[in-house]
Amino acid sequence: MPINIVNPTDTGKCVFCGGELKQKTVTFAHQVGKRCLLVEDVPAEVCAQCGEETYAPDVADELLKFAGEEFQPLRTVQMFKFRAKAQSSE
Ligand SMILES: [Zn+2]
Repeated sequence: MPINIVNPTDTGKCVFCGGELKQKTVTFAHQVGKRCLLVEDVPAEVCAQCGEETYAPDVADELLKFAGEEFQPLRTVQMFKFRAKAQSSE
């Protein structure tokens, strides 16, 4: 999954739809093979229109460190896949 990086000199508009970007903290999700990584409280610019999240270059660098094995996770979670069709019990 690519990380969207916003250039600090950008105009504050979404590169995808031109919507207005708002500073927020988000939970960054990244999947590497079967491992899924979640990083909470990541500062990002979020498009008010399409919801696309972009990150400043230094923030993206930090995120890539998490994707490596440089950090021990704060906690681990089990992840399940929701079945689209309920199993029939009969
Ligand atoms: Zn947008």
